[in-house]
Amino acid sequence: MGDRFPGIEWYCDSCDEYLNNQAGFDDHKYIWQCTECGYKNSISSANIFEVED
Ligand SMILES: [Zn+2]
Repeated sequence: MGDRFPGIEWYCDSCDEYLNNQAGFDDHKYIWQCTECGYKNSISSANIFEVED
């Protein structure tokens, strides 16, 4: 099983930390608590901002 959102980079909504590199990060989780600030980020397609061509 691969990533639920391949190629998507996740950043904390509160402190802008790069979440993909945090220990235990798994985009199959629906909520990821930032290990830096403790903010609970929602990991869902609604939070992906795609750059349009
Ligand atoms: Zn954070």
